[in-house]
Amino acid sequence: MTGSESQRRAYLAAMGVDLWLPRGEDAAEAADEAPVEIGEGWEPLREAVAACTRCELAKSRTQTVFGVGNSHADWLIIGEAPGAEEDRQGEPFVGRAGKLLDEMLKAAGQAREQVFIANILKCRPPGNRDPKSDEVAACRGYLERQIELIRPRIILAVGRIAAQNLLGSDAPVGRLRGRVHDLDGIPLVVTYHPAYLLRSPSQKQKAWDDLCLALSVLR
Ligand code: URA
Repeated sequence: MTGSESQRRAYLAAMGVDLWLPRGEDAAEAADEAPVEIGEGWEPLREAVAACTRCELAKSRTQTVFGVGNSHADWLIIGEAPGAEEDRQGEPFVGRAGKLLDEMLKAAGQAREQVFIANILKCRPPGNRDPKSDEVAACRGYLERQIELIRPRIILAVGRIAAQNLLGSDAPVGRLRGRVHDLDGIPLVVTYHPAYLLRSPSQKQKAWDDLCLALSVLR
């Protein structure tokens, strides 16, 4: 906050005027939820993401994690947000969960290079906490643009955060999986997050059923 801004606030406070600040935060630190305006094609989008300061995660990230893969993929995989390893390497799903995701995709006949992998957030939330709603809103335009450019035939939402945010639902994954949703005309299948599957391997059969459902959409 600038000196004159803090002085203005002090005057207003002395006058008993309440300043509206989003979610009780300093306005300068609130996420920018205005629509994302970006030029045509991939390069302006990559540049906009790399330079993004729309939310406070810009301050703590090592780098943005744009997403990786085939820019004309049939499959778009959407996870939650970069973790520590992804923040270091600048690529999504490179840790243990990423290895399991790769195995799941291979079982569905898809190499990592064939699909496109992205996240709800392009920056790592500190301590791997859940994304905040204003962060999701600030980042959403980037993902929407990626979806427009890729035009995938199927979206696989992995985990609760991806599924709930994409579908605008607060239902658990267990209730969202097992059917084909529609995201602006693109079929979307929900499955468990590979990090959850590492902790609960007994759920892997259900994840395989979800992949089979996604495959059936493409046939
Ligand atoms: N978990 C996610 O949801 N995304 C990543 O990129 C890594 C772990």
